[in-house]
Amino acid sequence: MTIKEAQEAVDRWIKEYGVRYFSELTNMAVLTEEVGELARVMARKYGDQSFKPGEKDNLGEEMADILWVLLCLANQTGVDLTAELEKSLEKKTQRDSLRHIHNEKLKA
Ligand SMILES: [Mg+2]
Repeated sequence: MTIKEAQEAVDRWIKEYGVRYFSELTNMAVLTEEVGELARVMARKYGDQSFKPGEKDNLGEEMADILWVLLCLANQTGVDLTAELEKSLEKKTQRDSLRHIHNEKLKA
């Protein structure tokens, strides 16, 4: 699935089952909530916290939740995430192509 196809799939789902998009500000709050849920799993899987009995490592599910709401926000604000990611890759390449290679902290 391409990013464009993902944006289209989410849009079809919203129109078929979601009635309408939540408002942009509501989805911004939901995005923040989902980032918190990912942080919770990361703290337990890679950090010093531990899972409570019954909690599961659902790292991928939480990442997908974030992606879902980001795709919603892109759709409802008219953002083409394919084009934006391409621009971002170009920007990072122009700006950082040598920066990380010369970062001694990243070696060893
Ligand atoms: Mg979640």
